[in-house]
Amino acid sequence: MTVPNVDREEIWRVLRDLVAIPSVNPAFLGGTGEADVACYVENYLESNGIPYIVQTVSEGRSNVIGMLSGMRADRTLLLEAHMDTVQTTGMTIEPFGAKTASGRLYGRGACDTKASLAAMLVALGTLARSGRRPPVGVHLAAVVDEEYRYAGVAKLAQAIEAGELCYEAAIVGEPTGLSRVVAHKGCVRFRIEARGVAGHSSDPGKGVNAIEQAMEIVRYLREVVEPGYEALRHPLVGPPTHCIAQIEGGEAPNTIPGACKLTIDRRTVPGEDPLDVWARMKADLERFADETPGLTLMVHEPFIVDYAMEISTDEPVVGKLAHAVDRVKSGTAEHGAAYGTDASKLARVGVPSIVFGPGDIRQAHTDDEWVELAEVCAAADALAALIANYGNEEGEEQTA
Ligand SMILES: [Zn+2]
Repeated sequence: MTVPNVDREEIWRVLRDLVAIPSVNPAFLGGTGEADVACYVENYLESNGIPYIVQTVSEGRSNVIGMLSGMRADRTLLLEAHMDTVQTTGMTIEPFGAKTASGRLYGRGACDTKASLAAMLVALGTLARSGRRPPVGVHLAAVVDEEYRYAGVAKLAQAIEAGELCYEAAIVGEPTGLSRVVAHKGCVRFRIEARGVAGHSSDPGKGVNAIEQAMEIVRYLREVVEPGYEALRHPLVGPPTHCIAQIEGGEAPNTIPGACKLTIDRRTVPGEDPLDVWARMKADLERFADETPGLTLMVHEPFIVDYAMEISTDEPVVGKLAHAVDRVKSGTAEHGAAYGTDASKLARVGVPSIVFGPGDIRQAHTDDEWVELAEVCAAADALAALIANYGNEEGEEQTA
């Protein structure tokens, strides 16, 4: 089908509307949840004649899945974007002001990832209004909770695994500057607790200082564990890393600390299983404790496990998206990323997934978050072109 023109004014309006609706993840300070954005998405789909379903994830939190049918009933492409944002603490601009200046739109979520959601919505709306069916079906899943526990995409993945929904490929909206992330890291987060013996701090020798024990653990992680990461380097995402993200210890200024907890964020690379990584670190740390006089530690179960992902660049969606983006921006490419996205959860249930969207990841979660409007329009144009041409590969091959 011919690629319909995407209306700039409409994109600006939809993005402004989305940013003006607070949807801070309820796990964060001041978080009100995604319900109002979900309602906006439902209204947009309805007013464009696109059928949709609502997936309840938890009370007051639902995914909305718009369903545009195509010529082929057996083939469906998935566009996915999260509706939640991080907190607004420390922001230097009005978080929900949705102000525009010098071609940029400012506000929490403008870049991560309401720009992607707006581009996807308007691309779909434009195709629906054109009155012509795209070659393949297209679903747009606006999901909750990407910024915390991925409960939204988990619910979507459940439905895919159960065979209720079926996709041949997915585009996951995140700020990639219109380049395509074809591999990204995963993570395993857990706590290590050093256990000392509390006592009166006037006589430190009478107890065992858990903070000093924790320092031994930090040193071990840096000097013994970290040097091993280089051997695991992945060509697109680099080596694994760990960050000691939090430390908590001590009871009072005059007490030998009896316990000290470290929170570890270990980033995994494609091919590593986060649970195996955790089990290996646990075994290594326990061995280290056995060999270190006075050190008692406990490695807690992971509280977050997220898989890395990698899509083969031979997957048709990779080339098709690159082709569609080339129409609107030159110099973009496929690359890897250190951060995680919903794409890994879709890839785990067999949907080849690629991360793509307008905006710069360096703008995500910042104090003056913004996105360039021209790039949001370019993303919508690319998505509309991708969808309009998606099922044409047989024809393309014939004329090649
Ligand atoms: Zn995001």
